[in-house]
Amino acid sequence: MENTMMLSQSCQDTLRKLDLFVDNEIRTAETAEILRHLESCPSCGEELELRRRLRNRLRAAASSDPRPYLQTKVLASVRRKQQSSSIADTAGFGSS
Ligand SMILES: [Zn+2]
Repeated sequence: MENTMMLSQSCQDTLRKLDLFVDNEIRTAETAEILRHLESCPSCGEELELRRRLRNRLRAAASSDPRPYLQTKVLASVRRKQQSSSIADTAGFGSS
């Protein structure tokens, strides 16, 4: 029972495309697929919400205060949140 932390294949696919999705750089068919997955998968939905918020913050930071360390700070705080809800430390990226 070591695989309980593994994300399902569709979760991994979704998470991989999430950045493109947030950037609207993804094809429509895939968008529909992602949306369908997000509807049935709260943790991926949470991840999307996180990335959207991050993107908005970065955008706001870039227009008002373009100092680069801000991005690092935002990223760090988002990472911390991710860990506490432990959705994303995605299957297999760490040590295996
Ligand atoms: Zn999922």
